[in-house]
Amino acid sequence: MAAYLDEEIARRAETVGLVTLDRILDEAKLRLHAEERELEQLEALDARHVLLDERSMNHTGIADLVIRGDWADLKAFEEKVAEVAAALADNGCPDSVDARRSMAVGVLADPERALALVAGRPAPSPKRRVVLTYHLTDAALVGLDPVGFDVDGRPLLDQLVRQGCARDDVSLVVQPLRTLGACRGGAEPHEGHAVEDYRPNAADLLEVELRDRTCVHPYCTRPARHCDCDHVVPFEPDSPERGPTCPCNLAPLCRHHHRLKTLSGWRYTIIEPGIYLWCDPHGQRFLRTPDGTHDVTDRLA
Ligand SMILES: [Zn+2]
Ligand SMILES: [Zn+2]
Repeated sequence: MAAYLDEEIARRAETVGLVTLDRILDEAKLRLHAEERELEQLEALDARHVLLDERSMNHTGIADLVIRGDWADLKAFEEKVAEVAAALADNGCPDSVDARRSMAVGVLADPERALALVAGRPAPSPKRRVVLTYHLTDAALVGLDPVGFDVDGRPLLDQLVRQGCARDDVSLVVQPLRTLGACRGGAEPHEGHAVEDYRPNAADLLEVELRDRTCVHPYCTRPARHCDCDHVVPFEPDSPERGPTCPCNLAPLCRHHHRLKTLSGWRYTIIEPGIYLWCDPHGQRFLRTPDGTHDVTDRLA
């Protein structure tokens, strides 16, 4: 390789700058190690991804999206982003070019709307449905507390909801949530819940998600909305002991822990809705509460 390089550099000695030298080195590597470079190419293709980083999201509602892809795809996308950002400015959007480029990603998520915007036609009615769950405290309802919580327990300012209401590109759905008078289980008749159905209704699912926030297996942090909704006392249609389909008997379990419970002898019971006592196959016991998991094996011995 050294001989090859000497020759190439000597040939172009007068014009070689740093950039040219890099290119010659790259070319030399391609010629001399073609197979390795092919493997490198395949690895690079495998590494393409689009990652929405949920950890980057905080109370501001602003987050990061990272894309690694084929240059041609990225370039084409970036050109459309620039085109939509310019159209937004033409429509009177006062934000900076960076902010408009970021907004353009949302516009492009609704292709019909993006086409109308670029062509200067009136926007069609929004197709995107954004679900923002905002959990108000009692103090917030009377205007004393500007802080609420989303479905994962992240604190959010009520300002964010106002911002959402002002947007004309998403349709806003207000979904009331029953939290007062929630069923506590026991002898109560589970009034208003779909107790006869195996699948819980949407309101009950949301109630369980907001109450438990994550999979309720000890120490698991998988968000509840990505979990299965498990009947803690099994739903057996023909048994008089059948567990009801009601938040007082439902808990989020991620797929992995759902299987673990079914297959490997982990057991759990509800102490009260939102508080679970787990027993592992070796007799170790854990209390899972809204504040986290506590190993209570010694205290229950
Ligand atoms: Zn109930
Ligand atoms: Zn889990």
